Amino acid sequence: MNLKPGEISSVIKAEIKRYSTGLNVTEAGTVIQVGDGIARIYGLSKAMSSELLEFENGTYGMALNLEEDSIGAVLLGSDAGVKEGDSVRLTGRVAEVPAGDAMLGRVVNALGQPIDQKGPINATAYRPIERVAPGVITREEVNVPLQTGIKAIDAMAPIGRGQRELIIGDRQTGKTAVCIDTIINQKGKNVYCIYVAIGQKASSVARIVKTLDDFGAMEYSVVVAASASESAPLLFIAPFSGCAIGEEWMESGKDVLIVYDDLSRHAVAYRAMSLLLRRPPGREAYPGDVFYLHSRLLERSARLSREYGGGSITALPIIETQAGDISAYIPTNVISITDGQIYMESEMFNAGIRPAINPGLSVSRVGGSAQIKAMKKIAGPLRMELAQYRELAAFAQFGSDLDKDTLDRLKQGERIVEILKQPQYKPLTVEQQVIILYAVTHRYLKDINVEKALDFENDLLNYIETESPDIISEIHETGEFRPALEEKLIAALDKFKKSIKI
Ligand code: ATP
Ligand code: MG
Repeated sequence: MNLKPGEISSVIKAEIKRYSTGLNVTEAGTVIQVGDGIARIYGLSKAMSSELLEFENGTYGMALNLEEDSIGAVLLGSDAGVKEGDSVRLTGRVAEVPAGDAMLGRVVNALGQPIDQKGPINATAYRPIERVAPGVITREEVNVPLQTGIKAIDAMAPIGRGQRELIIGDRQTGKTAVCIDTIINQKGKNVYCIYVAIGQKASSVARIVKTLDDFGAMEYSVVVAASASESAPLLFIAPFSGCAIGEEWMESGKDVLIVYDDLSRHAVAYRAMSLLLRRPPGREAYPGDVFYLHSRLLERSARLSREYGGGSITALPIIETQAGDISAYIPTNVISITDGQIYMESEMFNAGIRPAINPGLSVSRVGGSAQIKAMKKIAGPLRMELAQYRELAAFAQFGSDLDKDTLDRLKQGERIVEILKQPQYKPLTVEQQVIILYAVTHRYLKDINVEKALDFENDLLNYIETESPDIISEIHETGEFRPALEEKLIAALDKFKKSIKI
């Protein structure tokens, strides 16, 4: 071999140069102020945004404000053991959570640590809690339904896998109930569910976990809880942690449903944290980037195309309004980010119309493409008839001499409203929904007492299941509602009506 000495020496020089730069001592910072879960640290000039920091006593923190010669960090634990003068070390990692199938059936805190006394989680994967959302190239159209099992939603504001549908309404209007029912309805549908509880009482979270357990839904679910008694930074990261757990499944081709209950409390926690970090307050004292906070979270829900794994994350964020005001800052923000909203109303709830879904204000931008053909065909006229009914009902309360047509429409409207009622924990399959909605829109209930409408539904569904199960199986297999099937259903309905006493 013929080597030139000049070349060798230049290589050696370069190696020496590289070696010396590799010898940088890891920089340690010093806590100069601590309180309210926030620490100001001098030094650490190389910290990354959202980098995990380790304090002298082992507590972890997250670097959020990177300033000229100090950084503002939030503590991901108690600030009791952290004092002024303590040293702080960079970890070189951003905050991450365990993910994968080991999470199923577990209840974890915002850091992914188990809080259910079922032992450690043997996770196979870890995921950063913050990540850039999938780009447009990797996405596919949302056109596979995510059945909630709730008639009013599946018929009038259908949700597709990969969609973001906001659940919005005042306190105690059944927002959580809709989401829990949706999770329960995913049993056997190959959808993994994540319920993120933000700022709720620990006892409410425990109750929800118990309900999910009772219905066998924990088998395919994980609960991420940051309860009201925990610090604001933990509430702030909880939904991101939940989303990271979902992304692991989405990328391996699974369909995931994630509920954020609720983002109003999330925004409030973020505001508290930002004010403590001395970030400038804006409208309603929220920091200027609160829109970005929720948009970057919800943008991570997607339906990936086959080449990128083919999975999906469907998000159901919840927002609590004050006295029905959907034009406040946080509600308008989240409405503009999501692909539709289910609007829950106190007046309807109190009038006994439960779930209290306002059909006029509830929309889904994915709409009919997230419905099977049969449902699309049957549910079409529903919204229209309801809208007409509400208009007429408002008008009719002033007059008594109504013509027959108006009376008929009022009667029909009352029956539709009644049929759209549904108790909790009683999801219906899409086939059952098609049958009962067909019956009501085709006036089969016109001679049934309004109070008896739900009994009629029950009896009818039982009758069809035993007498003509082929109707159900045909809808199930073809997804369509062909004329021959319609004839069969009409025959069954006629026979059923003859069999009951009115
Ligand atoms: P919060 O503002 O406290 O979070 P929320 O809007 O999430 O309340 P839920 O907790 O879901 O409301 O429901 C309030 C109450 O209404 C609960 O007691 C629940 O059992 C009841 N409820 C909800 N949906 C129905 C329903 N479809 N039928 C009967 N009762 C219902
Ligand atoms: Mg709730």
